[in-house]
Amino acid sequence: MRPIPEIVATQKSFFRSQKTKDVSDRISLLKAFKVEIIANEEAILNALHQDFRKSGFEAYLSEFGLVISQLNLAIKNLKQWTKPQRIPASLLTFPSKDFIYKEPYGTVLIIAPWNYPFLLALEPLIMAIAAGNTVVLKPSELTKQTSKIITQIIKNVFEESQAISIEGGVETSTALLAEKWDYIFFTGSTKVGKIVAEAAAKHLTPVTLELGGKSPCIIDNTVNLKLVARRLIWGKLLNGGQTCIAPDYIIVKTEIKERLIIALKTEIIKRYGENPETSPDFPRIINQKNTKRLAALLESEKIVYGGVIKEEDCYVSPTLIDNPSLSSPIMQEEIFGPILPIIPYQNQEDIEHIIWNLDKPLSLYVFSENKTFIKSVLDKFSFGGGVINDTLIHFGNDKLPFGGVGASGIGNYHGEYGFYAFSNLKPIVKRGLWFDPTFRYAPYQSKLKLLKKVFKYFG
Ligand code: NAD
Repeated sequence: MRPIPEIVATQKSFFRSQKTKDVSDRISLLKAFKVEIIANEEAILNALHQDFRKSGFEAYLSEFGLVISQLNLAIKNLKQWTKPQRIPASLLTFPSKDFIYKEPYGTVLIIAPWNYPFLLALEPLIMAIAAGNTVVLKPSELTKQTSKIITQIIKNVFEESQAISIEGGVETSTALLAEKWDYIFFTGSTKVGKIVAEAAAKHLTPVTLELGGKSPCIIDNTVNLKLVARRLIWGKLLNGGQTCIAPDYIIVKTEIKERLIIALKTEIIKRYGENPETSPDFPRIINQKNTKRLAALLESEKIVYGGVIKEEDCYVSPTLIDNPSLSSPIMQEEIFGPILPIIPYQNQEDIEHIIWNLDKPLSLYVFSENKTFIKSVLDKFSFGGGVINDTLIHFGNDKLPFGGVGASGIGNYHGEYGFYAFSNLKPIVKRGLWFDPTFRYAPYQSKLKLLKKVFKYFG
């Protein structure tokens, strides 16, 4: 592979040649990309299984299917999205025709995580290409098989000057971040997000940071516990709990805590059997390092279910923790595994105390039949996005923007918002040369009174 600075220079020069600007060419490229991905479906699902034993169903639902749907959406709507948007003239621009142009940023860097390695590498890439950028993608080093196939698929469709996948770990990432980009789109941990933000700040490069955090799930005493347990366990154990928006911990009304624990245990057994290790549907932790990290989080906690760890197999069983201290490690960092702490609350102040002690979360879930309670939670707490009476599914509507706030991220994407994430909105006012009222020009003498009137009535 050529040195990184050379690749970036080639992409910048390709962008300046204006070859990425033709919308029909972009659509053709996206169509070719779709054909290539579909031709590799089996290999992609196999790679995901090899990387962390992700089942075919989950791989299709949460990665392959979503990538294809984003491609379909972009192919279908790109002509509309890219059209300059006509905006009414204002008092100060009249007479004029006003527009918002959607301009590609230029050469963009996308850094992807390992937990949805196919989706989170390719969805941003699709939207970056749709918006007319050139792309350097760095997929995760932890999902080697998936990253390898991503690199190959991109190579089969794109010229290096338009899109390339560069595999590698921290050194590669660091070398890439040393370059001057027109945009950086990063998905990963808050810790690395800060490193990316610092590198971007050196050149004042705009960024999207899709980060993580501790997403709470609040349950009051008005709910059907069996249904809550079903939706909660699905959201928690999908991808083995390694989902950025997985419910990280539960805050439950004290009087139903014990019944909730029973309902959660029953649900885990119903879905994955008495021994989830043998279930083909339960994925592994990504590597031994993370397995050890999760094992350490369990130390000195009260385990009321599960707690089985097999380091050599990267297996952590679905685990329930009763009432951990807020200062314990399990309540200080994002868990990112199949472990669910359950904290009781008596009143609103207890909930505030827990949530306001932590950074703003990426998601928040509330299970309740009480509209006043739901409204108070939605109004009071700041978080990236959420669901009432279910988990994760806000991710599934690409008409909703997806992103964090504060420590859980900057910016958002999905569907058309993804196209906008990679586009600079350029306002253009078009005027003719035939008419030029002289009111704004000096001398201003005696014009101030009229100006005030104009603002009063039309401003
Ligand atoms: P990570 O931050 O460790 O790594 C993400 C990427 O950054 C990888 O490509 C990695 O090679 C690179 N990287 C790692 N260390 C680096 C460094 N020091 N300098 C430069 N680059 C570096 O994250 P991860 O473990 O791959 O993914 C898990 C995290 O991502 C969780 O915190 C999760 O919540 C978050 N996440 C967020 C979203 C979202 O959409 N908001 C989606 C998935 C995952």
